[in-house]
Amino acid sequence: MAEYARKKAALKIQPRPLGGQLRLAKSTVSNLFRYQSRDAPERPLSLGHFNEVIALDRAARTLDVEGLATFESIVGHCLPQGFLPPVTPELKHITIGGATVGIGIESTGFRHGFVHDALREAEVLLPDGDIVTCNARNEHADLFRGLPNSYGTLGYILRARLALIPARPFVHLRIEPFDSPPAFLDAMQQATARDEIDFVEGLFFEDRRFYLMTGCFTDEVPQVDDILREHIFYRLVQTRKDVYLATADYIFRYDPEWFWNLPDAPFYSLFRRYAPRRFRNSGFYTRYAAWKNRLRDWIPALAPTATEPLIQDWEVPWDKADELVEFCLQEVKLDGRPWAVVPIRTPGQPTLYPVAANQLYFNLGCYCQVRKAEGREPYYHSNIMDRKCFELGGIKMLYSSTFLGPAEFDARFNGEAYRALKAKYDPRGKAPDLYEKVVLKAG
Ligand SMILES: Cc1cc2nc3c(=O)[nH]c(=O)nc-3n(C[C@H](O)[C@H](O)[C@H](O)COP(=O)(O)OP(=O)(O)OC[C@H]3O[C@@H](n4cnc5c(N)ncnc54)[C@H](O)[C@@H]3O)c2cc1C
Repeated sequence: MAEYARKKAALKIQPRPLGGQLRLAKSTVSNLFRYQSRDAPERPLSLGHFNEVIALDRAARTLDVEGLATFESIVGHCLPQGFLPPVTPELKHITIGGATVGIGIESTGFRHGFVHDALREAEVLLPDGDIVTCNARNEHADLFRGLPNSYGTLGYILRARLALIPARPFVHLRIEPFDSPPAFLDAMQQATARDEIDFVEGLFFEDRRFYLMTGCFTDEVPQVDDILREHIFYRLVQTRKDVYLATADYIFRYDPEWFWNLPDAPFYSLFRRYAPRRFRNSGFYTRYAAWKNRLRDWIPALAPTATEPLIQDWEVPWDKADELVEFCLQEVKLDGRPWAVVPIRTPGQPTLYPVAANQLYFNLGCYCQVRKAEGREPYYHSNIMDRKCFELGGIKMLYSSTFLGPAEFDARFNGEAYRALKAKYDPRGKAPDLYEKVVLKAG
């Protein structure tokens, strides 16, 4: 705490230059994925040094952590002591602050909700430089409930206090294949009601293969599968009934391949097997992808013309899951890559992400390039999936590109409540507005 207090005292916000907007500068990669490049004048605020774990309280089962600490460092601190955050994102370099204001999901979501549901208290640097502590009961409870889905537009989290859950060293994953959405979805829903199960998720493919994966913490396993060098996680689970992983490997199972985006070509097989560990993670992959994109900006001939990214998450009420699955199977071709699914039930109701409390939702994610739809506008697939999700009473996450007009955005993400929060916590508009930030401009 002393070190954190010292950093906090040293924090000074510079006066806002004309036309500049507050932007978070940090040393780890961003896990935003916005397709269109948006140049906005900005005023970078460097908070990258707020990246450490402060203290774990075993008796209270809570963790105090700085806002820009990555989940890799949080898991590295908590797991050896037998604890984990209830919902830990799958990419190592996602930070606690980013996942709280950006909506974080995982295979524990059927029991523990979203990442932000574990938040007990936050210290927030408001856009004008004041620092406030908010929790569910104090005078800043409105800010506390408004942080999820605010994307830094109400201020930056400098310190978070999180509830923790007990964890064990290994995860035993059982995989069950299905060939129809109703059977797959029924089995998944039933799994969410079983007390002994700690993790529930699924993958499915356009040839109508569906894999339900249920996992349990355990102290002992007959073997430990290696998904860094030997196996590729999403391929392994298509060939096995049981997979045994060290808990940290399970938590970050999609990190080494950035889901399924390392190609299967011979060069990448060698890379997979022999590259130093520091290159076998999503942070390295993200930097590599950014470098490739810059190269394509300079040499347009290198830019892929046949594909575009479809990196999005959508949530619909559980009784609409079947319809969403049939829709995506018919309308979008992933060329052998999977769709990813987790069931989510949130105990709370965040102001800016209006999902119903205590209701099971179906979260569908797509994390790869897709073939462009011939004769259609760019990002056709993102748009039709968004429309279908909304038609089914669902909601989409905003870490990726969003193409809504301001009125619809307002209606879907509680614009009225947002404006009240903005007027109270950023009255002089020093940070960008949410619509401006997630639809129109950068970061
Ligand atoms: C390919 C891909 C895969 C993903 N997979 C998962 C997943 O498995 N599980 C999951 O839960 N989520 C996932 N996400 C979503 C991810 O959690 C969000 O994009 C999250 O906002 C990223 O946080 P970050 O720490 O990387 O922060 P950044 O990407 O750097 O920032 C995200 C936003 O949060 C703001 N922000 C960052 N730090 C703070 C802070 N301390 N206080 C306030 N605002 C802050 C930034 O200004 C920015 O607007 C994925 C996203 C992508 C693109």
